[in-house]
Amino acid sequence: MADLWQLALSEAAELLRRREISAVELTRAHLDRIEQVEGSVRAFVTVTDTEALRQAERVDELRRENATLGPLAGIPLALKDVLCTRGIRTTCSSRILEHFVPPYDATVVKRLHAAHAVTLGKTNMDEFAMGSSTENSAFFPTRNPWDLERVPGGSSGGSAAAVSSGEAMASLGSDTGGSVRQPGALTNTVALKPTYGRVSRFGLIAFASSLDQIGPFTRSARDAALMMQAIAGYDPLDSTSLDAPVPDYLAALTGDIKGLRVGVPQEYMVEGVQPGVRVVIEQAIKTLESLGAEVGECSLPHTKYGIAAYYIIAPAECSANLARYDGVKYGYSTKDLSGGIIEMMSKTRAEGFGAEVKRRIMLGTYALSSGYYDAYYLKAEKVRTLIKQDFDRAFERFDVLLGPTTPDVAFKFGAKTADPYAMYLNDVFTIPANLAGISGLSMPGGFSEGLPVGVHLIGPALGEATLLRVADAFEQATDYHTQWPKIDPKRGRKR
Ligand code: GLN
Repeated sequence: MADLWQLALSEAAELLRRREISAVELTRAHLDRIEQVEGSVRAFVTVTDTEALRQAERVDELRRENATLGPLAGIPLALKDVLCTRGIRTTCSSRILEHFVPPYDATVVKRLHAAHAVTLGKTNMDEFAMGSSTENSAFFPTRNPWDLERVPGGSSGGSAAAVSSGEAMASLGSDTGGSVRQPGALTNTVALKPTYGRVSRFGLIAFASSLDQIGPFTRSARDAALMMQAIAGYDPLDSTSLDAPVPDYLAALTGDIKGLRVGVPQEYMVEGVQPGVRVVIEQAIKTLESLGAEVGECSLPHTKYGIAAYYIIAPAECSANLARYDGVKYGYSTKDLSGGIIEMMSKTRAEGFGAEVKRRIMLGTYALSSGYYDAYYLKAEKVRTLIKQDFDRAFERFDVLLGPTTPDVAFKFGAKTADPYAMYLNDVFTIPANLAGISGLSMPGGFSEGLPVGVHLIGPALGEATLLRVADAFEQATDYHTQWPKIDPKRGRKR
């Protein structure tokens, strides 16, 4: 038998149910895997090994007592460090929250524990989820398991790398403009951004509240369905939570996509898309056609305004959300108290936030200031409506839309850090779904020069079951999602 960490989540869940393996064994196998590759990958900010083993022991104990266990019982998972965990440091990969220990769990964390999952620790990210490479982490960059010289994407790069390297069976990230799907594409994982409101954000440290959504990273659509089943659904603690029934996501995986209408937006197959990525997308279209899907072209004419609108709206909202870090209530506080309270707050923020976070706060404050509000913020919100209407029209004719998740494969460290705009362009295909509040999924679609390429499926509001059905059918016809990166355990120590 393969090493336990190589098992598919659903397979492991079955073996646990049949008592052929124990939760402690499975958790140990993942902690050993972390020990083996973490020096190279660096996906985790905090590994909670003692706590994980304690949780696993409890699951095994409950099983011995024949208690009713949840569907994720004994499955080791990782959590992006933007999700509050009671008694466990939650940093957002920022100096300002470096020693912050939340007094409560995020709703998704509670739900995973209610499903008897085991949590291994907190994963690295771009500071406050701002970035596309994990290079904005205040602590260290995470490396792409497929090539340690390259970024894993971001901002949920740690969560993506943990799953793709076998350190965790699944993980959670957050997607404000692409931060689940983009790192998913770059690391060969299945990465789902649910519809706005589908998953509670209570306990998710806010970046841009009208865009943020929590979503899973897994190694198959089936595993993503299991994760969604555990975390989706109404939560009275989140006022934006959607009070709509949660479908049976596993039952949606029929393997049948005959007659499914797939639209390919012409704006997503443009010049900026690397040839190797384009080949993979064209091949994926052929595969879906061979499975009975009907593929046609469509247009999302306002795509080109997505990034501009996003970089007004997201910074505007972040400037308000991050006002709470003032050195008084919680988090880092400057040591220099020689001035008054205003000076104390400015120094705290100057010392506590990194460059990208400061850039966004300044942009956002400017866009919201009197005299500029109409010209920037209001205008951006109008563009947002146009983008949403593009999708409404497309979904009159198609069940899902398909294109590349990102224009290119994983890039080298430092390649885009000097030019924020080049970094922002990574999200040209993912941002529109956040602006429209709809669902999106990136699935392993193949490789270009040995690096993973993500196929992006966009669905309407509450289209998660359809996206998972398509991804599952695609997986049955391909084997890209089953490939493992070869990680040199010694490479990493240098960085
Ligand atoms: N890369 C985008 C940004 O920097 C999206 C981030 C995200 O989805 N959290 O804002």
